[in-house]
Amino acid sequence: MKYISTRGASPAIGFLDAVLAGLAPDGGLYVPEAWPQFTRAEMAGFAGRPYAEVAAEVLAKFAGDSIPRAVIDDMTAKAYASFSHKAVAPLTQLYDGVWQMELFHGPSLAFKDVAMQLLARLYDHALAAQGRTMTIIAATSGDTGGAAVEAFAGASHARMVVLFPEGRISEVQRRFMTTAAQDNVRAIAVQGTFDDCQTIVKAMFQDQDFRKAVDLSGVNSINWARIAAQSAYYFTAAAALGAPERPVSFAVPTGNFGDAFAGFVAKQMGLPIERIIVATNGNDILARMLSQGRYALGNVMATISPAMDIQIASNFERLYFECVGRDGSDTAEAFSGFAQTGGFDIPAGALATMRQTFTGLGVSEADTAATIASTHADTGQLIDPHTAVGIYAARTLGTDHGTTPIVVLATAHAAKFPEAVEEACGLAPALPLQAADLAARPEQFERLPADPAVLKAFIRDFAGAAA
Ligand SMILES: *Cc1c(COP(=O)(O)O)cnc(C)c1O
Repeated sequence: MKYISTRGASPAIGFLDAVLAGLAPDGGLYVPEAWPQFTRAEMAGFAGRPYAEVAAEVLAKFAGDSIPRAVIDDMTAKAYASFSHKAVAPLTQLYDGVWQMELFHGPSLAFKDVAMQLLARLYDHALAAQGRTMTIIAATSGDTGGAAVEAFAGASHARMVVLFPEGRISEVQRRFMTTAAQDNVRAIAVQGTFDDCQTIVKAMFQDQDFRKAVDLSGVNSINWARIAAQSAYYFTAAAALGAPERPVSFAVPTGNFGDAFAGFVAKQMGLPIERIIVATNGNDILARMLSQGRYALGNVMATISPAMDIQIASNFERLYFECVGRDGSDTAEAFSGFAQTGGFDIPAGALATMRQTFTGLGVSEADTAATIASTHADTGQLIDPHTAVGIYAARTLGTDHGTTPIVVLATAHAAKFPEAVEEACGLAPALPLQAADLAARPEQFERLPADPAVLKAFIRDFAGAAA
């Protein structure tokens, strides 16, 4: 299986090279050159199988012959053994026709663990074989950093640097990044927004000297292995609810469009997904794009679902590429233009294709808080604000046919956002056992300005690279 860039101007490369590269040299994102397929019998057979086994089946499709099957099986078994729930991604019913898939039983209590636990093992496998140590950088709106630090702390072939926007993430989120106490990890509070952090990381990748000097790699949601790992839970949830005989819909709290795009990937592989609801908070670039046909930057506003306080949905480039018939020069023009002008119109044909699968909804702060309270009143469950955005969207838009079950991706544990949950419903969620001592762990982090030169100098120094 080869991987090509959405901007059409980079050579096709293998799976592990695409994983280690993150961004393609032409600035595009890697996608498989063709979508692997599952038969209906294979998909039906996922029902009731251990999560790690289904994840291995999905990963094997994307890895092709680049990793021996026994190694893949071992990686997924170890990755998901770190979860505190034996089912890894259990489904619970909330309302008639509405389920939540609990993706928050990993070490940092957010769905990012599902991909990151696997990604760290893929890196170790690939880099050990090459005798190489890379510097991994992640800009984080909160949860990627914690998941990356939990997954890579103590890794023998990787150094980890996380950049987070100072003061814009919850204390619990911050503590998952700042308490790792491992020599190969640095957490940096950047004086700026998440989009500033993400823009700086992109610039670092475009600086070829710097990239080489520190052997830079990225594990942001643009990393192909993360998308591949996330597509696995669409299969387990759908199979549990009767797919492929019965189609299933999903409501996905979205920021960078990674998780929602993973659903599209599962659909491309044959899973009968009827609809994917793109549920955003007030940072609604994707919801506006779907309703108005224009992808246009707005101002980033701080919300109670901060992991989605994003106005540049990086993975949207992958969907655009698919929907313009995989035209790399069209995609390059649209997205390099976007970097300059902050907006472009989606061609009518592409928009129609997107709307066949996706519907968007921007959810207000008041509706998010009210959903935390109503879900608790109706079901006894405490949900986090990101999940609340998804539940509100699922209940507001429903599905095309009343009989299609809809699965809301529960992307974080309520205890990761205790202030917002308590404010909304008067109850403070307790941290689960595996994280109960978080507030007592000593913190260590740097505070630096949103200045690429300062950050690059810091990272060169950490990597032991000459300036
Ligand atoms: C990252 C994150 C999201 C958004 O996921 P994307 O893949 O960036 O769309 C939603 N909820 C939580 C809790 C997150 O950490």
